[in-house]
Amino acid sequence: MHIVSKLPNVGTTIFTVMSGLANQHNAINLGQGFPDYQMSDRLINKVNEVMKQGWNQYVPMQGYLPLRESIAEKVEYLYNSKISPGSQITITPGGTYAIYTALTTILQSGDEVIVFEPGYDSYIPNVEINGAIPVLIDLKFPDYKIDWDAVRKRISPKTKAILLNSPHNPTGAVIDERDIEELRSVVAGTNIYIISDEVYEHIIFDNIHHQSILRYPDLLERSFVCFSFGKTYNCTGWKLGYCVSSPESMVEFRKVHQFNCFCCHTPSQIALAEFLKDKNEYLSLSNSMQEKRDFFSGLMKNTKFDLLTSHGSYFICGKYDRISNEGDKDFAIRITKEFGVATIPVSAFYKSGTDNNVVRFCFSKKKETLEAAVERLAKVS
Ligand code: PMP
Ligand code: GLN
Repeated sequence: MHIVSKLPNVGTTIFTVMSGLANQHNAINLGQGFPDYQMSDRLINKVNEVMKQGWNQYVPMQGYLPLRESIAEKVEYLYNSKISPGSQITITPGGTYAIYTALTTILQSGDEVIVFEPGYDSYIPNVEINGAIPVLIDLKFPDYKIDWDAVRKRISPKTKAILLNSPHNPTGAVIDERDIEELRSVVAGTNIYIISDEVYEHIIFDNIHHQSILRYPDLLERSFVCFSFGKTYNCTGWKLGYCVSSPESMVEFRKVHQFNCFCCHTPSQIALAEFLKDKNEYLSLSNSMQEKRDFFSGLMKNTKFDLLTSHGSYFICGKYDRISNEGDKDFAIRITKEFGVATIPVSAFYKSGTDNNVVRFCFSKKKETLEAAVERLAKVS
């Protein structure tokens, strides 16, 4: 028996590789993005409670309606935009699944999708598995801004979608109002969809306001906007998120979703329906994560790494060219094995493997973890 691979050029994800190496070498893991501290006790207790009450069977395919209502209330409060819980929101098993489902909903074989690099590693395989072609555009190093002139040049009659991600993984770059204006002008008069990955909507620093597509009804009409509860509530292992789109697009999205997952984990949806109403839980996240960024950046001054700017997400990138001119993968593997700190080489976020001698650090960790890691990083030579 032989499977003709749908993803012949894909290996194991860098997150799996680096977390595996971290475990094997007992290294501090600043690689894969997840908090090493406990999520809210209140939310855990609530899930426990609803399970005991008997909320353990299927909810509707679109998601538990009171949760979708809470999301709509939150969207109106945050982005001054009215969306329908009935026809515009679907609960998904995580943000990655929402993005995959949105792409699968719209793509036909031979379509093109604009994908920025570096970029989250699921995007390109998600496009390719649908028989479509990723059109790759580099973000400008070292601030990782979008080059809109390059985007204009790469638009073709086959362009089906543009994939955006802000706050951005792996760089922490964020889009601003000018980017929204550029985006609007690029898609005007076309049938191009926007897939907007906003899983870090609540992790944005320096008093910058998140430019959600949900703020812009004219753009939402052609968009699938994807979110993750895992990032917002420090429970990445829950794999729960949602997608927002126009009612017309959501009809098609749900056709794909209903025969893939049908519906998501019930107890966490019941618990979140109420928990989402507590604004402080999500509004406080930017401050607490900014403190971690600043704490980590301060400590890193004692090393030979030069950190780049991060305005959001829980990542910050660092150049290591004052230490070595090794390729970033070799460097990341060496410092995991020899110095006991795992990071992610940023070339893994480029199909071309572009290597600017930069590694990504995840700072959503306890202070003790960050201190212990930097003590080791200060010795790297
Ligand atoms: N998009 C980006 C940019 C991410 O960093 C992540 C984190 N894994 C996801 C999507 C996926 O979120 P989830 O774990 O909810 O699938
Ligand atoms: N989003 C996380 C990261 O970028 C984890 C992703 C994953 O493990 N697939 O590190």
